[in-house]
Formats: sequence, C-alpha cells, structure tokens
Amino acid sequence: CGIVGYIGNEDARDILLKGLSNLEYRGYDSAGIALLNAEGIHVFKEKGRIAVLRESVDPDIHATLGIGHTRWATHGQPNKCNAHPHQSASGRFTLVHNGVIENYNQLKTEYLSDVTMKSETDTEVVVQLIELFAKEGLSTGAALRKTLKLLDGSYAIALIDAEDSDTLYVAKNKSPLLIGLGDGFNVVASDATAMIQKTKRYVELVDEEVVELTRDSYMIMDLDGNEKTRAPYTVSFDA
Ligand code: GLU
Repeated sequence: CGIVGYIGNEDARDILLKGLSNLEYRGYDSAGIALLNAEGIHVFKEKGRIAVLRESVDPDIHATLGIGHTRWATHGQPNKCNAHPHQSASGRFTLVHNGVIENYNQLKTEYLSDVTMKSETDTEVVVQLIELFAKEGLSTGAALRKTLKLLDGSYAIALIDAEDSDTLYVAKNKSPLLIGLGDGFNVVASDATAMIQKTKRYVELVDEEVVELTRDSYMIMDLDGNEKTRAPYTVSFDA
C-alpha cells in the first residue's frame, strides 16, 4: 500500500499515476486518485492494477493539486466503493489513508450517528470527523488535528479541502510518509522511490505530526498546532 500527493504547477494526474506505479512493489488490491481544479474535485478509483485506474481517469481533467492511494484492505472488501480516496458527506473533504484506525467503531457511534457512511472502511470515519469539526467552525488544519487526537492506530494521511486549492494537508503516525521539496512544487509519498523523478530533497516526519503544504512552502506542526522545524536531506540514488 502507499500514498502520493502533489501540489505545484504541472499536471498532477500523470505525476500521481507514475508515483503510484513506483509504489506497486509495496502490494495493493485497489487504487485511486483525486484531482482538484476550478470545476471541483474529481475522484477516480478502481479495484486491481494501476493500469486499470489509468484507463478510468478522464484525460481531459487537468489539475495542479491531487492525492493518490494504493490500498491493502484491512476493513471492508477490496472493491471500488471501499477503495480510496474517501469523501465527506458534503464532498468538501477528500482523503487517502494507509494504516488502521482501531477505534473507528466507537468514533462512529459517539460522533457520527447522523452520518450515512458510504463505505465499510475504518478510513471513512476520519474524513467524516474532519467535516463535522469544520462545520462546527474549525479551520481545516484545526479540524484535522482535532480528529487525529481522537484516533487510536496507525495512519499516513493526505487530505484535500475542495474550498482551498492552495493547500495539501498530510499527517503521519506509525505509517511511513515523507515530504519531497521541489522548485515551485511539493510532493508527499510513502517512500522516496515514488517521487524520485521529481525531487531528491526530502523531509522526514515523525509520529503525530501534521504538515500543511503549499506550492512553495511547508509547515510541520504537532497535534496541538505548535510549529516544528526540520532540515531537509538529499537522497543520492537514481531511479
Ligand atoms: N484500513 C484502511 C482500509 O482498509 C487502509 C488500508 C491501507 O493501508 O491501504 O481501507
């Protein structure tokens, strides 16, 4: 399983599909991408190979912000509905996740009894909670951090807010996730091989960190929103 994300000025679709192909070695049963452009959010997902997903993606959709996922199903059958990305009830938030949310049933009962779930995954609880807290008035970053504080388990997460085409949100706990730095773009990925064609400069995340990326900046925070600084490193291998 794996995660990729891109925010920049180039066409995100091909960068994400290439990144997912580079992560194929990690194993998966389904895959998907989400692209945000001026018309809104576009989600494509399929059971099976990246080649199947590639066929299903509308080639006329151009976007400079997007996220992608290969799934190794833990909760819910490997099918198209349970494939990531998952969306909140209103469609405002779109999220990919690797890992396991152990207390998803409790969270569903406690916070989301009014929400009709669209999938059988543990992951969907995360995106629905973010929407709940955003509706209560929190910023997207604050809604994400509040949600993460409630989770027991492991996650590498990438999140898009359809109302903000200038920010890519990510978070990590006990699942791998790296930030890749570019000139006028930034990427995220489960490991450096995914995006090695794009950049060789990476920032490692530690557990329970969130990052807000724009096209030319990244801000690392703990779950309380306190900013953290960390120098990037350069990887020396070639693709
Ligand atoms: N637990 C999530 C699911 O089953 C994510 C699995 C993964 O890491 O790919 O959908």
